[in-house]
Amino acid sequence: MRLGIMGGTFDPIHLGHLATAEAVRENFSLDEILFIPAARPPHKLARHITDERQRLAMTILATRSNKFFRVSDMELRRTGLSYTLDTMNELHATFGQSTELFFIIGADSLADLQKWHAARELVDKCHFIATTRQGVDINFSAVEKFFGAIANEHIHRTSTPGLEISSTDIREKVRLGRSIKYLVPEAVEDYIAREGLYL
Ligand code: ATP
Ligand code: MG
Repeated sequence: MRLGIMGGTFDPIHLGHLATAEAVRENFSLDEILFIPAARPPHKLARHITDERQRLAMTILATRSNKFFRVSDMELRRTGLSYTLDTMNELHATFGQSTELFFIIGADSLADLQKWHAARELVDKCHFIATTRQGVDINFSAVEKFFGAIANEHIHRTSTPGLEISSTDIREKVRLGRSIKYLVPEAVEDYIAREGLYL
């Protein structure tokens, strides 16, 4: 089994996340993509983050129409900061050690990978797929230098449609009373309105 993992705050989940996950699924022949909303991302402690229950609900609504997409609340159930290494160990325990794990990350995050908790152990145990937009290049030599030969086997790059959408932009639009139609799935748009999020 080849399992793709899309982690994020998903505050809210948007079509950029979904289109990327679908493109990666095809490009790497993955069996499923598991969306894992993060509890408390260490780099986002500063800003207010929407209730976990609501971020989970939007992620479920957004992924419902794709039979290859699943959602896990494993990071929300865990107390304390979420480390990818803990998530990966839990996934291996759940899906079996022979399941190959592919973490999907934005190209911008690839440069930070070496600073992640237990970075070398992580790259040893699972795959990373860095997604770039057409025409945007990644400086891979620094990554290779840090991780060594394993980088070529376990760190992959692929280009995806790269929609210019961010959750930050969507929250701002809602606050300003502007339309977010065609940026998030309709069910998510309705949910945001119903729950009065981002006002
Ligand atoms: P925020 O603006 O709050 O930072 P975001 O839109 O970047 O939100 P995250 O939940 O932080 O969304 O992102 C989760 C993952 O999705 C990250 O790996 C990020 O690089 C990737 N991602 C975010 N937006 C896009 C996009 N438009 N296209 C492709 N990947 C994206
Ligand atoms: Mg982000």
